[in-house]
Amino acid sequence: MFTAIERDVSKALPNPKPPTAQSVRQLPTTPICRTILDYVKKELSLPVLNHSLRVYQYSLAIIKDQFDWDLSEEAVFITCLLHDLAATDGNIASTKMSFEFYGGILSHDLIMKYSNDKDLAEAVCEAIIRHQDLGESGMITTLGLILQILTILDNVGLHMHLIHESTLKEVNTKYSRDGWLGCFSDTIKLETQTKPWCHTTSIENFSEKVLSNKAKY
Ligand code: ZN
Repeated sequence: MFTAIERDVSKALPNPKPPTAQSVRQLPTTPICRTILDYVKKELSLPVLNHSLRVYQYSLAIIKDQFDWDLSEEAVFITCLLHDLAATDGNIASTKMSFEFYGGILSHDLIMKYSNDKDLAEAVCEAIIRHQDLGESGMITTLGLILQILTILDNVGLHMHLIHESTLKEVNTKYSRDGWLGCFSDTIKLETQTKPWCHTTSIENFSEKVLSNKAKY
């Protein structure tokens, strides 16, 4: 979980292979995975929950096709489920911190409470804090990179060449995109208006980019 890789996707993956068609996978059933899934089902709206589950499915597909990583499905699953936990209206209102940073802390505490797995808690926290920290310099964890790639794919339509159209179709049929772009755009507006210092402002015109996403899923 703490393997370093270039943050720049074109350096981390200089020669991407043609993506293969993959089926929707069963969700992991370890105790911590079940606990976190039950938790986010209560906390997240349906569009955010479906986005999180799409990001999980895409992540497994791209890791299988493109990367030879020793990364557990459990770690990927928990990271994907929790990455937007602090983007609920209630959690945005409950802190002055940027949502990714607060979400990292909340997730760290949840994982320690339910599994006491320090490495898992720290890896998930680190990936969530950096998931909108896009850029072309330096390094990131493999878990952080895959979360960056797939959240921006689902929100803005970047990196679409890394996933097969039939995989996209299956995942988006199982976990509907209905209402997602408007929902996420509203969250960006809420956070940047109430916290004009927040980290989300580092992505220029982010809300407009989300709303103008014309990618075919
Ligand atoms: Zn997200």
